This record gives sequence, C-alpha cells and structure tokens, in this order.
Amino acid sequence: YYSLIIREEKDAFLDVETEHSRYDRLVDALRFDLKDQRLSVHYQPQVDTLEGCLYGVEVLARWHSDLFGWVSPDEFVSVAEEAGLIAELDLYVLRQACQQWAIWRKKGVLLPLIAVNFSPLSFALPQIEQIIYSILEEFDVPFSSLVIEVTENKKIIPTGPFISIICELYSVGVNISLDDFGTGYSNFKRLLKFPVSQLKLDRVFVNELPSDMSKEISETVFSISRKIGVTSVAEGIETEQQLIQLKNMGYRIFQGYLFSPPLSDMDFESWLADFRVN
Ligand code: C2E
Ligand code: CA
Ligand code: CA
Ligand code: CA
Repeated sequence: YYSLIIREEKDAFLDVETEHSRYDRLVDALRFDLKDQRLSVHYQPQVDTLEGCLYGVEVLARWHSDLFGWVSPDEFVSVAEEAGLIAELDLYVLRQACQQWAIWRKKGVLLPLIAVNFSPLSFALPQIEQIIYSILEEFDVPFSSLVIEVTENKKIIPTGPFISIICELYSVGVNISLDDFGTGYSNFKRLLKFPVSQLKLDRVFVNELPSDMSKEISETVFSISRKIGVTSVAEGIETEQQLIQLKNMGYRIFQGYLFSPPLSDMDFESWLADFRVN
C-alpha cells in the first residue's frame, strides 16, 4: 500500500561489525525508552522581529540513554527511521508538545504555533492523520496551531501516499513547513508537489552569509515565499550580522542561538517571561 522508497547505496550502520552492534543496541534501547516514555523534548523560540512577539516554537526530541548517554537527534532519528520506529517517535514528540501546550494555556501562556518535525517515513503509518487529529483534540490544540515540518533527504523520497496525507492535513488547517529549504532534496521542484504554508531557509545558508551564493539563495527563497504567499522562517541565526542581512532581504521570522537555544519547558517559561518585558 505504501510505496515510500528508501534509496541508499549501502547501510551506513552496517559498515563495520562494531557499528553494527552499536546500531542493534541503539534500536533496542530506543524502542524500550520510547515505550517507557523516557525521551524528552526541548522548545526553541521562533521570533517575529517585526511585531516584536513570539511567532512559535520548534519542538525537538532529546534522548538520554542509560547505556549510551546523550545521543544526538541526528543519530537517533536515523536509527528510528531505519528500524521502523520513526512514526512512534514523531507522534510521541507531538503528544508531549500538545500536553505541554495545554499546561501552558492553563497558566495563561498561549503559544501561537508549535512546530513538530515529521519524517516522510512516518506517513507510512496507516491512519497517521487520524492519530494526529486525535492527539490535537485530546489536548484541545487547534489544528491551525500545529506546524508539521517535513524534511526530505537522500535516503527518503516520498511518493503518492505521503503527498495525499500532506494534502489532507493542509486541507483541515494544519500548517505544512518545508524544512531545510534550498538544500538538495528540499528544493524548488518540491513546491509543486504538495501545498505548503511555510518555507524554512536551511541554516547552512545562514551560516555561510555573507558569501554570494548563500546571499543569492536566501534572497531567492524569500522572494519565492512572497510569490506563493507563504511565511519564510530563517533558522540557525547566531550573529547580529546575519540577522541584519536577513532583515534587509525582508525576513522577519527567526530562530537560532542568537535568540535562544532549544530549552526545557521550565527554561522556556523563564525565557518567555523575560522576552515579554523587552
Ligand atoms: P532541524 O529540524 O533542522 O532542527 C534544527 C536544528 O538546528 C536543531 O538541532 C537545533 O538545535 C539546531 N539549531 C538551532 N539553532 C541553531 C543555531 O543558531 N546554530 C546551529 N548551528 N544550530 C542550531 P537538533 O536538535 O540537534 O536536531 C537535529 C535534527 O534532528 C533536526 O534538524 C531534525 O531534522 C531532527 N529531529 C529532531 N527532533 C526530531 C523529531 O522529533 N522528529 C524527527 N523526525 N526529526 C527530529
Ligand atoms: Ca541506513
Ligand atoms: Ca525542523
Ligand atoms: Ca532545518
């Protein structure tokens, strides 16, 4: 039924015997810790510098394993994709975020948008859109408060079913963000394939400003977002200089260490309290 294609020359985890066993042990540990709800999530603010307000937060998975210590998201996300655990991971993160959203709302903190990362592979789970709706409804999170960030990569080329689920989510008001935009697999060709609400300029371009190539790509991404009438978010802002350059191009929504790293729920609350006074 699902025809997601995993295209890879060879299995990166199976190169050498030691890596093989690390992979197997990571899979076991991750499966166990997911079941046991031992992963946590962090929140990174996205700031609207024109309005001077919080635009949203990106929710990022964090995993401290008893066996492996802190494992980087890049590693455990690809382990989860490889092992068929990714839908479980993405839905777990969504649920944590919605639960926290409801707690904050009770305290009078209303988050405009929560952005959750979904691997294209997660959409191979039957009825995933129904599961997403039921999580949002359980915590009374409006569909229009959710942003689903999708990234494609060289291993995962999404096909028909992925696109139809994205269309379905978009049609009920969920925002769709094309993450890492401008890079090889998340690029202009994709824009015609499914509806999007947001483009996220990849941090590699921000990082390489003011090089001519990065400047040109950043400008092009912004002008495309204007033309198709969607929001553009610039991520990975670390310096005042990068901020100024991107503002001059027209960007107004920013995410990066200059504003804040990803924070625990408690640290995010304190950050927000200070941010409001400013
Ligand atoms: P991403 O979606 O591009 O997320 C942004 C990454 O950039 C995060 O890395 C964040 O900590 C980092 N970052 C934020 N601001 C800055 C900055 O100013 N400078 C630099 N150099 N980096 C910055 P993180 O948390 O390590 O996550 C890495 C990737 O793992 C994410 O990249 C995302 O693709 C994936 N990921 C994380 N959580 C999840 C999840 O729940 N589900 C899925 N499917 N993927 C996830
Ligand atoms: Ca692999
Ligand atoms: Ca993202
Ligand atoms: Ca990104």
